[in-house]
Amino acid sequence: MDETASPENSWDMAEFERSSQALIRHLHAYVAGAQSGEGPVARRRPPHQVRNRLKLDRWIRDGGMNTTAFEEFLDGYLDEGTRLHHPGYLSHQCAVPDVPAALADLVHGTTNNAMSLYEMGAAGATVELAVIDWMLEKVGWSAQHATGVLVHGGSLANLTALLAARARALPCAWRAGMPSGAVILAPPSSHLSVPRAAAILGLGTDGVIEMPSDRLGRIVADQLPSMIRKIRDSERVILAIVANACAPATGLYDDLNAIARVCRDERIWLHVDAAHGGSALLVPELKHLMNGIQGADSIVWDAHKMLRTSTLAAAVLARDATDLASAFQQHADYLFFDDDRAGPDLMTRTVEGAKAELGLKLFLNLAWRGEDGLGRYVAGRHAIARRLWELLRTQPNFQVLCEPESNVVCFRYGRDDHDQQHLDRLQITLRDRLLDDGLFHLASSVVDGRRWLRATVMAPSTNEPTLRSLLDTVQRYAAESASTGPSAISPHSANDHRCSP
Ligand SMILES: *Cc1c(COP(=O)(O)O)cnc(C)c1O
Repeated sequence: MDETASPENSWDMAEFERSSQALIRHLHAYVAGAQSGEGPVARRRPPHQVRNRLKLDRWIRDGGMNTTAFEEFLDGYLDEGTRLHHPGYLSHQCAVPDVPAALADLVHGTTNNAMSLYEMGAAGATVELAVIDWMLEKVGWSAQHATGVLVHGGSLANLTALLAARARALPCAWRAGMPSGAVILAPPSSHLSVPRAAAILGLGTDGVIEMPSDRLGRIVADQLPSMIRKIRDSERVILAIVANACAPATGLYDDLNAIARVCRDERIWLHVDAAHGGSALLVPELKHLMNGIQGADSIVWDAHKMLRTSTLAAAVLARDATDLASAFQQHADYLFFDDDRAGPDLMTRTVEGAKAELGLKLFLNLAWRGEDGLGRYVAGRHAIARRLWELLRTQPNFQVLCEPESNVVCFRYGRDDHDQQHLDRLQITLRDRLLDDGLFHLASSVVDGRRWLRATVMAPSTNEPTLRSLLDTVQRYAAESASTGPSAISPHSANDHRCSP
């Protein structure tokens, strides 16, 4: 067809071609630079400065962007953002996307097959069903009885799974609302989306009862039966027990075997939040961390953490397909028809109405790299995290929280014979300084009553020289801050490692 004859608002194919080629050139330079450590790992300029630099108001008011202007905008946009491909990126648990997943996002951005109704994208829906089957197989569940769905993020996934748990314990709650006295049991170390889901479900955050845990936040399973008895004696209904695999703050796994045994004996729904740590299933040497996972009733496993897709793509997996089917008890005449459909409408399993082509991102990563390739990536990031722990143990001025089980390492500068509050503040000062200088992006968490720097090794470019440079830089900044403020830091020769018992 003659392109000049296209009606207004149809795609101008020459514009698409020209602009996407320019886009690829700029993204190429961005990733190549970030991977080799160029540019600040993050900028945190205040919004008004970013807004001015990117001329946002002008563009919104006047429009008229073209390929050349887009290139200029893109340079500023990429420069003001956070570089996850940078070796110094060690912060929040967001995937460093791989090439195939990036391509999938362009496909979705172009086709927009919002495939929660099968007729809105048979290919996208079928790809999703296939990757869900693969995930079920990794868990060790049969796709005959188990099922799952991809949703927009781990938080929504936790909500969806707990909704299914609620439907089993209180089948009338969907229609009649929540009776009082329903609770879920979760460790204090669980992700903030767990109490959030409880509040949304109508339990209130008071409906989340903290499970007994050790000083590192791991569930102490043998204290569970007596706790459960007390709760039941007070006429409360337990909807679910939530376990971490692994916990956000520490990267430590709960003892799933022991917890699953209690849940089976007590007939309580076990929900395992494996958003970050589920990918250990792909690594022969790490799989044991997930022992007992088959005993869960529901699992959350994010592809946008360690399976290298963009944000978001989170799987909710249910051991019994009927549980997920009964989570949402709605009938909408205009969407669902009573005839035989060609394929399933995934909308019946999700909070979302329409849904992005989430399965394609994970599928293309699998298709390109293979399950083994993804497993090697996970194993490699765990190994670098372990190396960081080893290096920290040789440094007298650092403490480490515990031996890492995943790619998360908690450590802090300074020794415990100093004022705790001052040390806690020092960690925040150090993190801010590293971020302001654009060298390293760390997170931070409070565990065992103390504040830690938290490194999560996600970027493929993070290597041993990165780690050495991190420790040198922290030492240097700490020494500078000690010479300018009241001293919290003094070199000692003895090691003081606070490891897990
Ligand atoms: C990241 C994470 C979540 C939340 O996932 P989002 O996709 O950020 O909503 C929940 N639980 C755990 C254990 C996580 O690591």
